[in-house]
Amino acid sequence: MSRLGLTPVETPHAERVAAHYARPLLGKVLVTTPVGQWLFMSEDDYKRYLKGGISNEEPLGSELRKRGLFRDYLDFAALGRMTAKRLGLNAKGPSVHVVYGKLSEKTAAAVLDFILTSPSPELTIRLERHNELFAHKAATVNADGKRHVNVVDGVKTSAEDERAGLTQRVKDPETPRNDGALSCFVYGADGSVYAGTGGELPRKEDAELFRIGVAGKNPYPEALEHPALRAFLLAESALAQPMCAQCAYSPYCPVRAEFNHRTQGSPFGHMPTNERCRRMMGLFGVIFEELIR
Ligand code: SF4
Repeated sequence: MSRLGLTPVETPHAERVAAHYARPLLGKVLVTTPVGQWLFMSEDDYKRYLKGGISNEEPLGSELRKRGLFRDYLDFAALGRMTAKRLGLNAKGPSVHVVYGKLSEKTAAAVLDFILTSPSPELTIRLERHNELFAHKAATVNADGKRHVNVVDGVKTSAEDERAGLTQRVKDPETPRNDGALSCFVYGADGSVYAGTGGELPRKEDAELFRIGVAGKNPYPEALEHPALRAFLLAESALAQPMCAQCAYSPYCPVRAEFNHRTQGSPFGHMPTNERCRRMMGLFGVIFEELIR
């Protein structure tokens, strides 16, 4: 059995079975949908489902219909709305900005200007390492009342925080993601702007690869057009990863371009031997077990 735990493939009933992922878990079959709806079925029920043998009238049929698992009852408007919300397709720009190190007055001003160019209505600036100068500058933005910036002291995400965040994604699949390559930008002390790092400052040797601009030199629209940003968006998309594209956890799982590059030499990584993937598999197993206990 592969790490995806795939059961032998049956040809699904073309009219009744909607696109989904499946994974044997806890003696049952976990079925998830591309927008993150999920339910557990017995193996026998899953086989009946694949054959189109579950009627609308039986209780399981009504659950499958509610979760968008009957192809002949798909609500495309709702699916589009959910996809847009969870993937931030309607987002106006990055909402989380992580600033590292002590910036000079000039660089702090340039970075703050760059951040404020984002049309995102919600802006959170996370200051990693105390930077009074930058905190003070950001606070003056709030004082004029035109824009609200939430400034927080950078606390590294703990394993508990990470687990709580992923559990929330499973409980409410519409929870917007704010940690992807386009949602979270990182700034170095020299004003470099990085994307695809999951909120981490890239290693010195990787800085060039992850840099999409320098505040004060490259305007915000230019950074958004940087080819590296497109590459990271693709690398962090489950649909672009052969193993993730078949994985029941992919609607919730954050793939990290920075981790892949650091450990496997490519932002795309190689999931069958990827340590983070192995950890995520274990973590989601525990999360689902807790949710149905
Ligand atoms: S990285 Fe996540 S989505 Fe991809 S295969 Fe591993 S657990 Fe599944």
